[in-house]
Amino acid sequence: MTKFSQFIEQDRNCLWHPYSSFGSDLPLYPVLSASGVYIKLADGRRLVDGMSSWWSAIHGYNHPKMNHAVSEQLKHMSHIMFGGLTHQPAIDLASKLVEITPESLKTVFFVDSGSVAVEVAIKMAIQYWYAKKQANKQKVLSIRHAYHGDTFAAMSVSDPDNGMHSLFSKALVQQFIADAPECTFEQACLESDLISIQKQLKANHQSIAAVLLEPIVQGAGGMRFYSAEYLTKVRELCNKNNVLLILDEIATGFGRTGKLFACEHANIEPDILCLGKALTGGYMTLAATLTNTDVAQTINQGEPGLFMHGPTFMANPLACSAGLASIEILLDSPWQQKIKKIEQFLKQGLEPCRRLAPVKDVRVLGAIGVVELHKPVDIKSIQPQLVEQGVWIRPFNHLIYLMPPYIINTDELNILIQAIYTVISKIKE
Ligand SMILES: *Cc1c(COP(=O)(O)O)cnc(C)c1O
Repeated sequence: MTKFSQFIEQDRNCLWHPYSSFGSDLPLYPVLSASGVYIKLADGRRLVDGMSSWWSAIHGYNHPKMNHAVSEQLKHMSHIMFGGLTHQPAIDLASKLVEITPESLKTVFFVDSGSVAVEVAIKMAIQYWYAKKQANKQKVLSIRHAYHGDTFAAMSVSDPDNGMHSLFSKALVQQFIADAPECTFEQACLESDLISIQKQLKANHQSIAAVLLEPIVQGAGGMRFYSAEYLTKVRELCNKNNVLLILDEIATGFGRTGKLFACEHANIEPDILCLGKALTGGYMTLAATLTNTDVAQTINQGEPGLFMHGPTFMANPLACSAGLASIEILLDSPWQQKIKKIEQFLKQGLEPCRRLAPVKDVRVLGAIGVVELHKPVDIKSIQPQLVEQGVWIRPFNHLIYLMPPYIINTDELNILIQAIYTVISKIKE
């Protein structure tokens, strides 16, 4: 038995993987190391990374400055409890986040993962209205095709079909789910895009604490890009109906859509903002929930006078030092030009896919390239073909998509694009 297959067998004896069955025979690839935009497999093969480890490794892997920041912090402490204690990495990262996010956001609550950042955002919204003696406002309004994470509150606000609401129906809170806008990023937002959310807000605002949206890009719920005008209109609707606006920028944050934060496309500010994924440049798990002074002070002044959340690993110093280094690397680079160049290259390169019979749509925004097929991808046959082409691309459902590290060059982008074209060409109808 080769080392490679031994690895796989050991894994299948004891490990679960994301959204998979235990011991599944779907393709699995042991990784030895990763550096820059390359992933090195245990059998020596090198793959160009098209995924940034799910939106997160924006500077590629094994980045010298990131490594330096984390190993320096390791000399001081890897972790210390955050109850009653504080440290420089947390202070520095929080100050930096307040500086670079929309003006009104002034406070930072650190958590371990994106899903928990969403839970915290929802709790903040509920405590805000509770403090204002409006304890009825405890529901959230989200939209179809949304994805906000895998924990229970996050599931309850994700797409009811993709989000498996029927499986967990007795355990999930019933939220309000409006239709998603049909307008694309390039199009104007029409009356028809807003009817459903308008109606639900009007009818139910007395029990709604907040509207929750992924700005501009709906990620894992279908990689849909919608018009900035829709966001502007929803901000107005929130004000009019006395509900808070929570934006989930866990996927879109830190430059991915061409703006540092996707809400900048619409020039609006949320009351609460969730960050995660690229926050530490893919080095460590860390997420954050930011809010404005009104929300923070109202929570303080109400009952019970505290915000009711506090994870064991809150503001982990190693993760905070990685976060700070990642933001410095990003802002010190000509990231806007880089994303623009990736966008233009993806637009041009993926366009020919449109003529292939299995393809339904091709769309690109910032450093995100999406090829949508008519039928779901057969991962069992497509994944090995992609690896044979020397790329790491992880299709899901009807989508084959790219969100490469920002450091990728045009030759490497070409390898990713050609691989997608080749595997789709071979799909038999
Ligand atoms: C990934 C993601 C989450 C969940 O983050 P985890 O770190 O996986 O818990 C939430 N919202 C959006 C938009 C995401 O892309």
